[in-house]
Amino acid sequence: MTASGADAAGPLATRVATLRAREAAGGRVRVQGWLKTARHGKEVSFLDVSDGSSLAGLQVVVARERESANPEFQTELQALRTGCAVDVVGELVESPAAGQRFEIHAERVTLIGPVGDDYPLQKKRHSFEYLRTLGHLRLRSNTLGAVLRVRDAAARAIRRFFEERDFLELHAPVVTTLDAEGAGSQFRVTTLDPAAPPRAADGAVDWSQDFFGKPAYLSVSGQLEAEIAALAASRVYTFGPTFRAENSNTSRHLAEFWMVEPEAAFLDLEGDATLAEDFIRQVVRELLERCPEDLAFFDERIEKGLLAALAHVAETPFERMTYTDAVARLEQSGRSFEFPVTWGVDLQSEHERWLSEEHVRRPLIVTDYPRDVKAFYMYLNDDERTVRAMDVLVPRVGEIVGGSQREHRADRLERRMRDAGLDPAPYGWYLELRRHGGVPHAGFGLGFERLIQFVTGMANIRDVIPFPRTPGSAEF
Ligand code: ATP
Ligand code: MN
Repeated sequence: MTASGADAAGPLATRVATLRAREAAGGRVRVQGWLKTARHGKEVSFLDVSDGSSLAGLQVVVARERESANPEFQTELQALRTGCAVDVVGELVESPAAGQRFEIHAERVTLIGPVGDDYPLQKKRHSFEYLRTLGHLRLRSNTLGAVLRVRDAAARAIRRFFEERDFLELHAPVVTTLDAEGAGSQFRVTTLDPAAPPRAADGAVDWSQDFFGKPAYLSVSGQLEAEIAALAASRVYTFGPTFRAENSNTSRHLAEFWMVEPEAAFLDLEGDATLAEDFIRQVVRELLERCPEDLAFFDERIEKGLLAALAHVAETPFERMTYTDAVARLEQSGRSFEFPVTWGVDLQSEHERWLSEEHVRRPLIVTDYPRDVKAFYMYLNDDERTVRAMDVLVPRVGEIVGGSQREHRADRLERRMRDAGLDPAPYGWYLELRRHGGVPHAGFGLGFERLIQFVTGMANIRDVIPFPRTPGSAEF
């Protein structure tokens, strides 16, 4: 063992996950990572090395006789403790221990990064509240590590799904000058001096002197830009950060979250609902295939029955019903909800969960909502009371997808804008897209973190994103 890190930043070592997936033992290998545990016996030390590539680490066995020539060995060995970083070279051999196929018989263990006595992540279960106070270290915990891997696998599965269906990935702007669904929930982007902004004659802030010459915001949705692109490239999707300044401190709202927004021309609401269902089921199926170890961990530690529930989702068609039907069932449920249900109200989380979790016991697509609870751009049904909207509701989480067929008839769109109290003037381009080669088109938005909550069983959305932003809290 050597204490110097001289050789530690050479060619990349093999990842622990790659070694654990090997067909057979044999050969000299090198791993670099952090110790989950270190047990020092009389004859041998056992190190559990993790590099974040898999839930389980790799056991490294350090035999003392190999090291006895080194006089500093005893002190150095004691420095190998939970949390320290090491570089290990040795032989990959079959492990006699239960629960692991291979282990490394170390030839050399180099301590790269020692650990202080006050290292807070000892090998025991910590509460998620406590881990949130350790934002810089919590990604090394088993649960947050598994979340990171599942997020990565889900992002890949999402891109694969759309690639297979010839959707182009569209890069929508993060800074927008559109007011997507009525102001209030948008973060303003400005370079004006907050202490002394330029003012117009009437005393109001003169935004024309701001950086973009007009008010600008962080995007709450890439939908409107996606509509522009879908009416040129037929099928597009965005996958990026989205911002909402809603002051809702719940377990399923973030101020910054990632959203996947496909938009397709020549698509109606039925097609849109089918796209959303195929999408969710394929992503779940792929995660079951690619993340079996992490999902088994979530099943065991976080949400009993998770694996069976996900397999069911992958195999079973979603339920579909209209909003009118859903309200009737809620009214007949005999439940007393905190927010009473009558036709015309927006569904609350408790209603969404009752419908999918207890009533149909699987994901459910609710369609044709009252026009007054949905956005102005949704296609008006012939009844003039409902719009071609759909939400996908899933057990435990509630709404995971919101989408619609868009209103492509310019006259009706303009009327809906006026009814909603919106000035059609800034939306001239939106109306023009309808007048020049407009076609029926539809799309939806999936909250990426809600999907991750659904597939991991994690209760709080703050624990499925590495760096959560919520009211009053934005670390790093
Ligand atoms: P909710 O009613 O749950 O607040 P919404 O109807 O306002 O959501 P949409 O505008 O339909 O949300 O956004 C599309 C999707 O984005 C939602 O179905 C949800 O999965 C996700 N989403 C919306 N707001 C948030 C948020 N604050 N944090 C995380 N995900 C969100
Ligand atoms: Mn919605």
